[in-house]
Order: sequence, then C-alpha cells, then structure tokens
Amino acid sequence: MSLSGKTAIITGSNSGIGLGIAWELARAGANVVLNSFTERDEDHALAREIADETGTKARYIKGDMSKGEECRALVETAGACDILVNNAGIQHVAPIDQFPVDKWDAIIAINLTSAFHTTAAALPMMRKAGWGRVINIASAHGLTASPYKSAYIAAKHGIVGMTKTVALETAEEPITANAICPGYVLTPLVEAQIPDTMKEYDMSREDVIKNVMLKRQPSKEFATVEQMGGVAVFLASDAAAQITGTTISVDGGWTAL
Ligand code: NAD
Repeated sequence: MSLSGKTAIITGSNSGIGLGIAWELARAGANVVLNSFTERDEDHALAREIADETGTKARYIKGDMSKGEECRALVETAGACDILVNNAGIQHVAPIDQFPVDKWDAIIAINLTSAFHTTAAALPMMRKAGWGRVINIASAHGLTASPYKSAYIAAKHGIVGMTKTVALETAEEPITANAICPGYVLTPLVEAQIPDTMKEYDMSREDVIKNVMLKRQPSKEFATVEQMGGVAVFLASDAAAQITGTTISVDGGWTAL
C-alpha cells in the first residue's frame, strides 16, 4: 500500500507513539506533519531525519493542543490533511478527591477536546480531496478503567465515543474514523508514571512494571511504537476502507480479561 501523495498530520509527534506513527506513515509514502507545543531545533531535526530517510516531505509545525485555536491553526497551516492522527496526550495519576483541577482541565483539553478541533478543521479538506482517514489514539483505558486516572479515562472513553460519531457523520463518504487502543507502550509518558506509581504502591521500579503496569497485559510485554505505526498504516489502507467507527486494541490481551 502506498500512501504517496497523502498528507498526514500527527498531533503530539515529537516523541513516543506519535513519532513512531509518523515514521511508519512516511515509510508507507505519506508526507507527514509533526507537531508539539515546543519550537526547538531538535523538533525540526526529527522532521528532516524522516524526510531524508524516506524521501517524503516531512515538516514540524508548532501548536499547543490544549488551545482550540492552535489545533485548528495546525491543520490550516499544514494546508492539506488526508490522514489525521489525534495522538497528543498527557497523564496525571491521583485519587479523584485529590485530583488537581488544572490537571483535569489540561487532560480533557489535550487528550479529548483537541481532537474535536482538529477533526472539525480537517474534515472539509478530506471532503474536498474525496478521501480521508481519522485515526484517534485512545487507549485500553478508553474501554476499561483503573483507579487514580479519572481524567485520562474520561478523556479516552470520550474520544472513543467521538470516533463513533465522526464515523456515522462520514459513513456515506470515502472517509473513515477509528480509534487505536494501545495497552502499555514504553514511551516517555509511561516512564513518567513509574515514580508516582512506585510511591503510591511502595514498590520497586521492576515490581511496578511487572505487577502493576503489565499485570493486566496478559502478554507481559510492552507494545511498541512501530506496532502502533503499522496499525495506523493499515487503517489508512484500502483494506480498511469499510472499517469505521470501531476500536482496534493493541494491548497484549488486556481487554480480553
Ligand atoms: P509521549 O509523552 O511520548 O508523547 C506525547 C506527545 O504529546 C509528545 O509528543 C508531547 O510533546 C505531546 N504533547 C503533550 N502536550 C501537548 C500539547 N499541549 N500540545 C501538543 N502536543 C503535546 O506519550 P505516548 O505514550 O507516546 O502517548 C501518545 C498517545 O498515546 C497519548 O494520547 C496517550 O494517551 C496514548 N497512549 C499511550 C500509551 C502508552 O502506554 N504509552 C497507552 C495507551 C495510549
């Protein structure tokens, strides 16, 4: 499957899953737009590296996905959007009665509301091009819950619901909307949760990984960012043209439990 000539925007893609997805979409021939809220030489260097290695056009556009106008400006500045990957996300772990209000607001804004704004801005471009793919990075936590992650789980369940609505609104068009639901993938976001969880459960790093994080992942292995990219390429392919409004779990069996 060649995605040659298609433009993919991946929010929150200077690290982790977003960067992995950008690499795989570019390897499949798509031009990619990387994004995060920073404006550093290394952000642009990531785009240059992808362009040099894959021969596609890749660029980095700064945009803070906690701000609606910057979400819409990202899509407008890119100028085209055939494949939209809503990936930007943050996490905070705390019991709900101690959950900081600013963290709740930021998680809902970045993990959920940003996808509303980017999708609203991208759909007219997809309709004009006569083809489109919306790929939302939800989570196993979009289908099931764990304690201490109320905002994240609310946002991820929310984005699964929004995915279904976008699929129904585009059902008679050559546009699909789906959500990928990863289990644990070892990225900076997951690394950052380890110290808090160690404190919460009074456990060593190894015990947190084995007995807390991967406890519910029956494969006992982290999924990889390359695997997330492979699923995104599949969802962008012709084989997936009739797959819409659904979730694909990449969680080592977590949601089968
Ligand atoms: P990560 O921290 O490596 O990446 C998050 C990305 O979002 C980074 O590029 C970061 O710069 C960006 N970002 C954060 N705030 C932003 C903002 N305000 N504006 C623009 N960009 C912003 O984490 P990750 O694990 O790669 O997570 C990516 C997505 O995958 C998230 O939506 C996360 O919820 C989801 N996810 C991750 C896992 C996992 O185990 N790693 C599991 C399920 C779902």
